[in-house]
Amino acid sequence: MSGTERKLGEIGFAGDDDVVPFEVAALDVRGRVVQLGPMLDQILARHDYPEPVARLVAEACLVTVLLGTSLKFDGKFILQTRTDGPVDMVVADFATPRSLRAYARFDEERLAAAIAAGETAPEKLLGNGVLALTIDQGEHTQRYQGVVALESTDLQEAAKTYFRQSEQIPTDVKLSVGKLVLPGSGGREHWRAGGLLAQFLPKAEERMRMPDLPGGDGDPIATPQEVADAAWQELLALVATVEDEELLDPAVGSERLLYRLFNEHGVRVFEATPVEDRCSCSEQRIRGILEGFTAEEIVESTEDGVIRVNCEFCSKAYVFEPSEFSARA
Ligand SMILES: [Zn+2]
Repeated sequence: MSGTERKLGEIGFAGDDDVVPFEVAALDVRGRVVQLGPMLDQILARHDYPEPVARLVAEACLVTVLLGTSLKFDGKFILQTRTDGPVDMVVADFATPRSLRAYARFDEERLAAAIAAGETAPEKLLGNGVLALTIDQGEHTQRYQGVVALESTDLQEAAKTYFRQSEQIPTDVKLSVGKLVLPGSGGREHWRAGGLLAQFLPKAEERMRMPDLPGGDGDPIATPQEVADAAWQELLALVATVEDEELLDPAVGSERLLYRLFNEHGVRVFEATPVEDRCSCSEQRIRGILEGFTAEEIVESTEDGVIRVNCEFCSKAYVFEPSEFSARA
C-alpha cells in the first residue's frame, strides 16, 4: 500500500472542483477527470430544484466542465438542451478560465406527474429534442455549434454521439451524480458528481475507423464500441469497471481513480484546472438589455413601481427604477 501512496503523492491530488487532464500514451488515449463537490453543491442549493432536476443539471455541469476546460483560447462553452419532456431546457456554460453556471427550466405539473409515476430517469425528463454544444470565442469570431438529437437519451450518451458525429473521435464518457453525507457536515447531504472523458487519438487515423467498411455509403463513423482497435477496446473495458460511487467518492479522488485504471499502462497527469461557481451577470449588463426596451416594454416590465430582474443562472435579484429608462424613451 505504501508504494501506491508514494506514486500518488508524486502526481499530487487535485481534489474537488479541479479538472484533471491525463494521457495514457500506450493506449493512445487522452482525457479528463473531475469530481465536483462544494461548487456543485452551492449551485444546486441556490436553485433548490426537485431532486431529479438537480441531477440533470449536475450532469450538464459535468459535461460542460469536461469539455469547456479543454478550450485553448479565451471564450465560452455552452451546453443547451431543448426538448419536449417535463424538463424542456437545461443550460450550463463555462467561461474561461474557470467560471461555471447552470440552470434548468421545467413544467411543474408535468414534473410532478413524472415523479409520481417514477419516471425520473434523465432521458425520461428530457424527452426528445436536441442537445447543442456551442463554442463562442467572443464578439468578432464565428460561433461554432454542434447539434445532436436527444431521443430518449441521457447526456452521457448524447456526448458520445456528439464526438462521433461532429468530431469523429471515438470517445467514452462516464458520469455519476449523487448525494453524500460527508464527515463533519452535521448529517446534511451534499451534492457531488464525478465525470470521466476519454478519447482515442492514435497517430494513424484508420485505427479510429471500423474495419472492413463498405466504401462510400452508409454511416462511415463507428460508434465507440465498434472501433475494433485493441488499445481502444482495452480502454473501454477499463472504464466499464468504474463504479458510480467510485467516480464521485472524495476518498477516491481523480488521481487515485486514474492510477487504479491505468497504472499498468502508464498514465501521465497534467496540471489541473480549478472550476468555480461564478455567474457573469451584472447590473451593467442587465441595464444594457433594458436600455434596448421600448417605452411600452418598460411599462410592462414595471411592477409596484420598480423593474425586478432575476438572473436565471444564479438567482441574483436586480432592481431598477423605470424612470431611468422611460426618461430616455
Ligand atoms: Zn447571474
